[in-house]
Amino acid sequence: MNKPAPSQLGLHVIAKPIGPVCNLRCAYCFYLEKEQLYSPEEQWRMTDETLEAYIRQYIEAQPDNVDEIDFAFQGGEPTLMGLDFFRRVIELQKKYAPDHLQIHNSLQTNGILLDDQWCEFLREHDILVGLSIDGPVNLHDKYRRDRQGRGTFDRVVAAVRCLARHNVQFNAMTCVNRHNADHPHRVYTFLRDAGATFIQFIPIVERPDQESTTPKPQVGPASVLPGQFGRFLTGVFDTWVQNDVGQVFVRDFDHALAAWMNVPASLCVYAPTCGRAVAIEHNGDLYSCDHFVDERHKLGNIHEKPIAELANSPFQRKFGEDKSDTLPPCCRECKFLFACNGACPKDRFTLAPDGSPGLNYLCEGFKMFFSHVEPYMKAMAGELEAGRPAAGIMQQLRAYKQQAVSNAAMEGKTPRRNSPCPCGSGKKFKNCCMRG
Ligand code: SF4
Ligand code: SF4
Repeated sequence: MNKPAPSQLGLHVIAKPIGPVCNLRCAYCFYLEKEQLYSPEEQWRMTDETLEAYIRQYIEAQPDNVDEIDFAFQGGEPTLMGLDFFRRVIELQKKYAPDHLQIHNSLQTNGILLDDQWCEFLREHDILVGLSIDGPVNLHDKYRRDRQGRGTFDRVVAAVRCLARHNVQFNAMTCVNRHNADHPHRVYTFLRDAGATFIQFIPIVERPDQESTTPKPQVGPASVLPGQFGRFLTGVFDTWVQNDVGQVFVRDFDHALAAWMNVPASLCVYAPTCGRAVAIEHNGDLYSCDHFVDERHKLGNIHEKPIAELANSPFQRKFGEDKSDTLPPCCRECKFLFACNGACPKDRFTLAPDGSPGLNYLCEGFKMFFSHVEPYMKAMAGELEAGRPAAGIMQQLRAYKQQAVSNAAMEGKTPRRNSPCPCGSGKKFKNCCMRG
C-alpha cells in the first residue's frame, strides 16, 4: 500500500488564543518564554476575525474522508479568554461544520478559574478538560506555583471537585519531573483516586542550551532523568496492570498496546513522522508544532495563506519526515523502534553510542519501559485478539502470583515479609504478592 500524502491525513491544530499568558508561573513551563517572539506591546488575545478564520480554515483543511475534528485550546491559560470567547467558538463551529463532521473540543487548563459557570458550560458542550496536576500536594506544589510563589494544589483540587459536581470528566495531564518521578505509585494512585480516568504523563525536559549536542547534555534542574522516567513509567505500569486495566487509561500504555497490535500510533510522540499537529498563535501565526513555536518553524499567517496550504507546505512536510530521516543508527536497529520511533524530536539532543547525533535524551527510559511492558503487552494483545477484554490480564497475574507463592511454600521456602517475592517481581514479598 502506498503511503498517503500528508494532505490526505487528518490535520490537528492546537490553538493558543491567549499566547503564553498565564495566571501561574510553573517553574518548568516552556511556553512562558514565547512572549519574546512578539513585541512588548502585543495584545495577547485572539480577535473574533482570527477566530473565525481559524475555525473555518481548520474545518476546510480536513480531507473528505475525515468525519471527526478536534479543537484543542491551550496556552498559556486559555480560560483567561473568558467564557464568551468559548461561546463564540461553539457558535462558529456550528456555522462552518458540514453535517457529516463531528466536532470535539478540549481545553487544557490549570483549573484555577474553573467555577460553577465554567463547569456548566463545559458539561453542556461536552468539552473535554485536560487538567494540569502533578500529584499529591507536596509533589504538585514543588513546581506548580502562582506569580506570588504560592502552591496551587488546593485551588486545583477545588477545580477537581467542581468538575465532579457538574459531572464533567477530566483527563489528568501530569508533568513528570525530577521531584515527582521517584513516586510513581503515589502519583498514579492519587490521580486515579481523584477521579481521573485518562492520564497523560509528560516528561519535563528543559534544555537551557538549545544548540549543544553532547553525550552528557545539560538539562534544567526540574528535568526528569532518563532512567528516572523509565522507572516512573514502569512503576505506574505495575500498579495499573494489577488493578486498573480497562478502568483507567494511561496514554503511554494505550499506545504501547496499540504498537504491539500493529495499530498505527495516534500519539505524535511515538509516530514515525511528525507534521500533522500544528500550533496556531493568537494572531493567526501557524507553527510546525506546539513544541516548535519559534521563528524558524513559523509556517506563515492564516490571514495570508489558508491553514491547508501552510500545513501541507514542503517545509512542513520535511519537518515531519525528518523525524524518521534523521534517526541515528542505534534507533534504526533498536528492537523497540516500532513502538518508540525515536520519540519526540525536541528531545533528540544526545549522542548515540557510535557518536552520531540525534538520540533522544530519554532513550534509556524508553528502553526500560518498553522492555518491562513487552510480556504484558503481548498477553493483553493476545486477549484482545481472542475477542476477550485486555483486563483479563489481571486475573492471569493474580493466578500466576498465587501459584508462585504456593510453589515456594511447597518447597519449604515460604517467603519472609522482607525477602524477595517468589513471583520474580524484584520487590519485597510484603510489597508484592503478600498483599494479595
Ligand atoms: S515534534 Fe514532538 S510534539 Fe511535535 S509533532 Fe513531533 S513528536 Fe509531536
Ligand atoms: S528506545 Fe532509544 S534507541 Fe530505541 S527507538 Fe527509542 S530512542 Fe531510539
